[in-house]
Amino acid sequence: MKQSMPDYCDLAAPGVRGLQPYQPGKPMAELEREYGLRDVIKLASNENPLGPSPKALAAAEAALKDLHWYPDGNGFELKTALAAHHRVDPACITLGNGSNDCLDLIARTFLGPGREALFAQHAFAIYAIAAMSAGAKPVAAPALAIDSSMPYGHDLDALVERIGPNTAVVFVANPNNPTGTWLQKDELERFLAAVPPKVIVVLDEAYIEYALEAEGYPDATQWLAQMPNLIVTRTFSKAYGLAGLRIGYSVSSAAVADLLNRVRHPFNANSLAQVAACAALGDEAHIAAAVELNREEKARVADACAGLGLPTLPSAGNFLCVQVGAKAMEVNEGLLRRGVIVRPIGGYRMPEYLRISIGLPHENDRCLHVLRELGEHGLLTVRER
Ligand SMILES: *Cc1c(COP(=O)(O)O)cnc(C)c1O
Repeated sequence: MKQSMPDYCDLAAPGVRGLQPYQPGKPMAELEREYGLRDVIKLASNENPLGPSPKALAAAEAALKDLHWYPDGNGFELKTALAAHHRVDPACITLGNGSNDCLDLIARTFLGPGREALFAQHAFAIYAIAAMSAGAKPVAAPALAIDSSMPYGHDLDALVERIGPNTAVVFVANPNNPTGTWLQKDELERFLAAVPPKVIVVLDEAYIEYALEAEGYPDATQWLAQMPNLIVTRTFSKAYGLAGLRIGYSVSSAAVADLLNRVRHPFNANSLAQVAACAALGDEAHIAAAVELNREEKARVADACAGLGLPTLPSAGNFLCVQVGAKAMEVNEGLLRRGVIVRPIGGYRMPEYLRISIGLPHENDRCLHVLRELGEHGLLTVRER
């Protein structure tokens, strides 16, 4: 008996039908395969160019022989270390398969049909994806104007204004990706005080290690004691250099953590990730080296871009949003052909920009060299602002 084929898209939950998959940075091996290149460099996903901490590598290696055992589903050692690091109770920590997993846990716990997730325009793309997969409505508040002191940054007043009866979760990235823009301590404090206690506020601090050195920069975990509706997410993927292992966490009230743990997959944080993260957390010298390298190279790359007539957005992260003009996709293609992977961000409604991660000095030099070459071919078309 032959049945007619259903349109499988109609079978998907309503929120899923409207989704586009997240577009990750192009893997190096893929570019090498597709373009027949060698010596490709990747400045596209904000990884730590120094690699993982040697201590994390040793810990993961030592744990390899135990791979036949399930991980500790409760993550006792890592949670204990994180609790000491943040001076909170271990019951406040929820481990994730990357902090992306934490964002998804939050969406599945607090969002759903009839509820809204609020975030700023140009904010990290995962917020909308997590909200829609959970059946909730994503709402984007306008960002700060291009001529403000924090162009494309989060406008906290605009966010507060858009909080309505159905707003269940507000996502705030500090610093934000892809823009690199950040929020000051006092403005964030005013914002947190203005959000009704029944609305969950997620502060995504994926790049906090790079930003903490700046004066007036808040470490949000200090507010948790007063704000039971606050969830701070962190990751080992960026400054800690463990993106491939997939390990992140959230810090919240114990009550919120208990809810997140109800929907969490029991073994979402794998055993290598748990031991490597513990070791990485203790390797402060490695973080300091990454932060120092980033500070020097980010300033140098921004200066060199300015020299090419390319404005950059202010960035507290380990990447720069570089305005290359209307031919950004051709510039991206030109970079790819010469073996340099960066990130086009047209999907963030910033079609004239490329997001470029800060790499090792020779990688940054190579990227700048190619940009200069593409400029000579007339591909850099930024008009004076
Ligand atoms: C990279 C990133 C994350 C998540 O990374 P994970 O690898 O899943 O921990 C979260 N938020 C922002 C803003 C990011 O850029």
